[in-house]
Amino acid sequence: MKNQAKSNIPELVDDILKEAIGFGASDIHFEPTSTELQVKYRLDGTLKTVEVLPAAIRDNVISRLKVLGNLLTYRNDIPQEGRIEGIPGQPVDSESGHVIDKRLAVFPTIHGQRAVVRIFYENESLTELNKLGFNPTIESALKEFARKNQGILLLTGPAGSGKSTTLAALLRYILEQFPGKSIVALEDPVERAIAGVTQVQIESRGEMTFPVALRSLLRQDPEVLMIGEIRDAETAKIAIEAGLTGHLLMSTMHSGNCSGALLRLLEMNIEPYQVTSGISAILNQRLVRKLCEHCKKKTADGHYESQGCAKCHNTGYHGRVLLAEMVELDGQLRKTILQQSDMEHLEAVLESRGHMKLIQDGRRLVSAGITTTDEIERVCKT
Ligand SMILES: [Zn+2]
Repeated sequence: MKNQAKSNIPELVDDILKEAIGFGASDIHFEPTSTELQVKYRLDGTLKTVEVLPAAIRDNVISRLKVLGNLLTYRNDIPQEGRIEGIPGQPVDSESGHVIDKRLAVFPTIHGQRAVVRIFYENESLTELNKLGFNPTIESALKEFARKNQGILLLTGPAGSGKSTTLAALLRYILEQFPGKSIVALEDPVERAIAGVTQVQIESRGEMTFPVALRSLLRQDPEVLMIGEIRDAETAKIAIEAGLTGHLLMSTMHSGNCSGALLRLLEMNIEPYQVTSGISAILNQRLVRKLCEHCKKKTADGHYESQGCAKCHNTGYHGRVLLAEMVELDGQLRKTILQQSDMEHLEAVLESRGHMKLIQDGRRLVSAGITTTDEIERVCKT
């Protein structure tokens, strides 16, 4: 609300961008309604309305963003995408890293144009596998996988759960530990450059699709392959075959849990024996918000909670931490999948073997006062 009175639009827009970056926001939404322009920040994965600007300046604010993004200001009827350069500002805390890119996307709606600025940060501390925050069991299982010459590691979890950060850290680990290996990554889009990895930009709407790129890439003798995402049956089929024929492959897949990812492969008509012999392990991960260090307090019953303060934009949370579960396929599990593969049965088998689920991994964070039970339950539902 504090900016409502400002008549200098460029200054107002700069302030919004700078403040968002200061808080380490990943996105800024400018949403027009019939009476106003709502400004929201995505902080630690959650959207929060931070300002409501009057309708009178709505179009001017969007126009200013379009100037910053080098877009056509006179075209209000088409979606446009650009890049914002220049606006200074860095996060006030070291946890967010530093800004490496700002992308603008505008879209026409019935109340005028909606704009979203996506802010990309490079966080040096998140490039190393042992600094991501996995529990020791999962960390050593990942390192074990990195040592192999063939097999597939699938990562699951919703968008924004840190999967690509984990994959990048794993590739860096392989580069360091096993220098000289031929490593290729197919990504849509390439998010960050990794020295030593051949990175290929996939165009899902062009000719260079995942299946096309993957098929010809296999003739280039790669040893380690990273595929940004398995979205279709064709990619899944080639990927599984690659994992069975002397390649170490890692990829992501949309699914709520480890069993779900296995079942999705079966639904894509991959032969059960190929799934069981190709997949080495599945990692399911989430990012949970951490209680704000500046306003968290211990309650009478020994738990922690926070009311919100200026440092956390009154959300009570600041920064995020990793939550994960991992299923490694062994003889018994492979047999189960081949015999009877439905979610209930698979989950029951995992439980009987003492599999540590996401929610259980979360308990260590709650008892350490890092986050809350509510937050763990919220992310585990997705
Ligand atoms: Zn706070």
